Amino acid sequence: MNPHLSYQEILEYIDTINPVTYAKTRNHLTGAVSRLSPYITRGVISLPAVRDRILQKYSQANAEKFIQELAWREYFQKVFTTKQQEIFSDLRFSRDDWHHTEVTTAIATASTGITVIDNTLKELMETGYMHNHARMWTAMLACNVGKAHWYNMSRFLYYHLIDGDLASNTLSWQWVAGTSVQKQYVANQSLINNCSDVHQQGTYLDMPIELIGVGDVPLALLTHSPFNFEMTYPTADVIADVSGKTVLLYHPWSIDPLWRKDEAGERIFIIEPRLFDRFPVSPLVLEHMIALLRMHVPTAKIFVGNAETIPGIENATVYSKAHPTTEHVSGYKDPVAELFPQVTGYHQSFFKFWQACQGD
Ligand SMILES: Cc1cc2nc3c(=O)[nH]c(=O)nc-3n(C[C@H](O)[C@H](O)[C@H](O)COP(=O)(O)OP(=O)(O)OC[C@H]3O[C@@H](n4cnc5c(N)ncnc54)[C@H](O)[C@@H]3O)c2cc1C
Repeated sequence: MNPHLSYQEILEYIDTINPVTYAKTRNHLTGAVSRLSPYITRGVISLPAVRDRILQKYSQANAEKFIQELAWREYFQKVFTTKQQEIFSDLRFSRDDWHHTEVTTAIATASTGITVIDNTLKELMETGYMHNHARMWTAMLACNVGKAHWYNMSRFLYYHLIDGDLASNTLSWQWVAGTSVQKQYVANQSLINNCSDVHQQGTYLDMPIELIGVGDVPLALLTHSPFNFEMTYPTADVIADVSGKTVLLYHPWSIDPLWRKDEAGERIFIIEPRLFDRFPVSPLVLEHMIALLRMHVPTAKIFVGNAETIPGIENATVYSKAHPTTEHVSGYKDPVAELFPQVTGYHQSFFKFWQACQGD
């Protein structure tokens, strides 16, 4: 996804999305998905702004499936906001059949033997994007066939995703692995073939769906190694002492060009080791993030360090946008615009959340 589109160009791009075609084709790897996720994840455009733009051209009924997918994102954000650090452990259900808690080598090297998954893993490493179904298949292959615990596998995927989002990624892995809902998601070769242009047979997934994940871990998925991805930090800008000043603090999920745009103040983008050491991202992801920052908040300076070490920050008036990863940041927190602000609290499943959104 081109990180150099202006806000107006993103809106014009949204005008090209047809939610009816989207609903019909989105499950196929070549389907008409929007590819808006890098912009949405980084906070460049809000969920209500996307929805409202779509509703300018299409009826609520025609846009329903697309809006429901946007709502999945909002659901995960709300779970993260309520559960905080708990999302990084089994949320509701535990399993006792894990084979290991590391990173499955065949997945990290795109050599699982399942052609579609290997192709989409290679595309991920080259472009930072992966179709939703390919993410689901990768996660189910790792956790439910290869029996790798989801936590380090989710960090592996997050490392490569230009739309990497701690809530959507972590909670999707938990959803697939059956630790947030009681059922594990599985797919067999025939389902994968039907949703792609590849028609492979005779693989270790070529069996009735009810047999997937039953029995021993296939040889191809046995090898694993520790999560060893490291973060390469960018060169930081020089930040003068901000004592007595107004600071507008940006983080990786709040690159919002409209936020307090006419206000005076020092605009600082924080890359905090407390976050990135734990959840590193690839050089490609970092490059993409910084390109979005340069495009949408060109006056922002980059600070590499934990927020409290910005010189003079304790004597500044600080504003930021609320996010679970910046709870420790002092100052005023502006809320993130939501599709369904009236729906609050924790819902155990997306279905229950969606019902609440419909007023049921
Ligand atoms: C294992 C796994 C990991 C994932 N990790 C991430 C992640 O790190 N960041 C991320 O943004 N999404 C993640 N998703 C959700 C989904 O795969 C992506 O949002 C979607 O593929 C992005 O492509 P798109 O913009 O073309 O989506 P579209 O299908 O066009 O959907 C439009 C928007 O709705 C939201 N959305 C759609 N489907 C989902 C979903 N299932 N969950 C949450 N939001 C959704 C996204 O913001 C997306 O941009 C993950 C899904 C799985 C199964």
